[in-house]
Formats: sequence, C-alpha cells, structure tokens
Amino acid sequence: MAFIEIEHAGKVYTNPAGEKFRALNDVNLEIERGEFVCLLGPSGCGKSTLLSALAGFDLATEGRVAVDGEEVRGPSPERVTIFQQYGLLPWRTVLGNVELGLEGRRGLSKAERDSTAYEYLALVGLEDFASAHPNELSGGMQQRVSIARGLAVNPEVLFMDEPFGALDAITRMKLQDDILRIAKETGKTVVFVTHDIEEAVYLSDRIVVMTPNPGRVKSVVEVPMSWGFRDRTSEDFVACRDKVFAIFNMKHEPEIEYVI
Ligand code: ADP
Ligand code: MG
Repeated sequence: MAFIEIEHAGKVYTNPAGEKFRALNDVNLEIERGEFVCLLGPSGCGKSTLLSALAGFDLATEGRVAVDGEEVRGPSPERVTIFQQYGLLPWRTVLGNVELGLEGRRGLSKAERDSTAYEYLALVGLEDFASAHPNELSGGMQQRVSIARGLAVNPEVLFMDEPFGALDAITRMKLQDDILRIAKETGKTVVFVTHDIEEAVYLSDRIVVMTPNPGRVKSVVEVPMSWGFRDRTSEDFVACRDKVFAIFNMKHEPEIEYVI
C-alpha cells in the first residue's frame, strides 16, 4: 500500500446556481513515503484542486483519496499546506509565528515551544531573526518562516502550492535548494504544485504532468538525478527538461516562419 493513494479521483464543483464544472477527471496516482513529487501543468488544470483534495480542504467528489491508509475526510495536522501567500500574523514576531501551530498542543511548556520553534527557524536559516516582525523580512525570508511554521508541527507530509511563485528568480533558486535539503534531512513526503517546468525537474523524484479540460494526469515522468547531484546545466537535467517540454508540445525552434 502506497503512502498516498489516489484512485479514480474526480472533482465536480457546483456553484450556488447549481451549475456544475468538472475540474478533475479520473486521477490515479500513488506516492511513496519520502518521495518528492511535483504536480506540473498550466493554470486551470486542477493542480490546486487535487492538492486541496489531498489536504482535506475541499474533498474529491469521486473516487478515493487516502493518506497513510486513511481516507481523507478533512484537514489534519499530519498534512500541512504552504501557499504562495505566506499567511504570517504581522503583529507576532517570527518566533511567535512559528509557534502558532504548537500552541494547541497539550503538555508543551512555553520553553519547549520556544526551543522547537528555534530548531525549525535554524533549519530554514533564520534563527537570528526570531524577534523580528514579518514586515522587516524579505519575501523569501517570510516564506522561510512559513515553511518553518509548517514543519514545526512535525507533519507526515508537506503540501506546497506554488510556494515560490511570488519570489524573484534568484531567491526562488535558493529556496528550491533549501526545500530539497529540508526534505532530505527530515525525510518528509512533499507534494509540490508548480507551473514551472525547470522548477519541477530540479525538485522532483517524479513529475506528474497535468492537462486541463477536464483536469487530468497526462503523463508521469521519473527524474533520474539523485539528490545532491542536482545541476541545472548537467546533461541529465537538460535531457529531462526536454522530455517534459516535449510532453507539452513545446518546440525549441521558433514556431513563426519569417517571410522576408
Ligand atoms: P490550477 O491550480 O491548476 O491552476 P485549479 O485547481 O485552481 O487549477 O482549478 C481547476 C479548474 O477548476 C479551473 O477551471 C477553475 O476555474 C475551477 N475551479 C477551481 N476552484 C473552483 C471553485 N471553488 N468553484 C468552481 N470552479 C473552481
Ligand atoms: Mg493553483
């Protein structure tokens, strides 16, 4: 039995007027514990819908979605989702934000909460900013705080929905390295949504390529590179990227013929 099982999953949204829209059709996918899987595809192909069904925010209307042997029926602290918006509380310090998820936990003293929060701030390289407020941090640092907050509750799995979408290209590459390192160090299973082909190739063990109308899985691509040997200029990387480009029918040569 796989850690995450998606069998014939579908999603039909119904609006208040009773009109129906099919966002996902017959998705079948298994994800192993510790895997890093990207859901890749153009806007509107159902990536967020699928992630939301896994996280339990908005359930699938057809088929079966299960994590760790249990059908997903709602949100769980074992499954944390990180969004593009950092969702930090501006009136709290960085440490206070990371502690948020720990406050409901019984039997955890303030000192234990602090030390756990520090541990995760260190994991994202922000231990020196514990007493700063979110508005004093760059976007990349704020997203790091949000990642630390998610990890601090020690979930089984991390869902990420275009988490680096608002960041500049250089910061984005740094955070990609961070999340790879963190996934490796913590052994977490990560399901990461992106519409960026190179990001998917850089991060994934496997890429699930999705396509719209209706949202479905078009292809699953294994990424042959091992962690620690990710190099955007390597032959393996370029070959894998070209393979994914080909799935989207993107050609490298210009499609327009110039008539002189
Ligand atoms: P992606 O994340 O790949 O951009 P989404 O999962 O957000 O795609 O959306 C897939 C499709 O479902 C889109 O056509 C979108 O308009 C539609 N959709 C998403 N959420 C809702 C909703 N709550 N009600 C109706 N339609 C929705
Ligand atoms: Mg989306």
